[in-house]
Amino acid sequence: MHTKMVTMAAQKRIALVAHDNMKSELIKWARTHKDKLIGHQLYATGTTGNLLHKELGVKIDALISGPLGGDQQLGGMIAEGKIDVLIFFWDPFEPMPHDPDIKALLRVAAVWNIPIACSVSSANFLVSSPLFSNEFERQIPDYERYLKERL
Ligand code: PGA
Repeated sequence: MHTKMVTMAAQKRIALVAHDNMKSELIKWARTHKDKLIGHQLYATGTTGNLLHKELGVKIDALISGPLGGDQQLGGMIAEGKIDVLIFFWDPFEPMPHDPDIKALLRVAAVWNIPIACSVSSANFLVSSPLFSNEFERQIPDYERYLKERL
């Protein structure tokens, strides 16, 4: 796969998702790091987003609820270059009806090489990195070249 570099702006477009058993953990994490989060553009799946707004009063763009397609919506946004960072506290103890969507979201996030945090520790690493609030050069698939080779 040929790749190219793109610049991630200092102000990130951050997607936040938590499964039901992990929502309190995400809210706690977001409360702790509220000061760092509010300078960025926040997105979330439906329930997570509405809870974060209610609990923290942060401005957040709530998409469709995960089981109804929100994870796929986020995956589409990542492929379109509209999301820079994914914080996804998925539940390691419960199977979900939308497990295929979750796998697809994590796959697309890896394809487009965006920073992903699936645990509190990794989210702490992300938020404390200087790259969190600075420009970052990201390697992504070179889609134009990919297409040219296939036509
Ligand atoms: P929710 O979706 O924020 O609407 O609960 C999260 C998920 O289950 O993927």
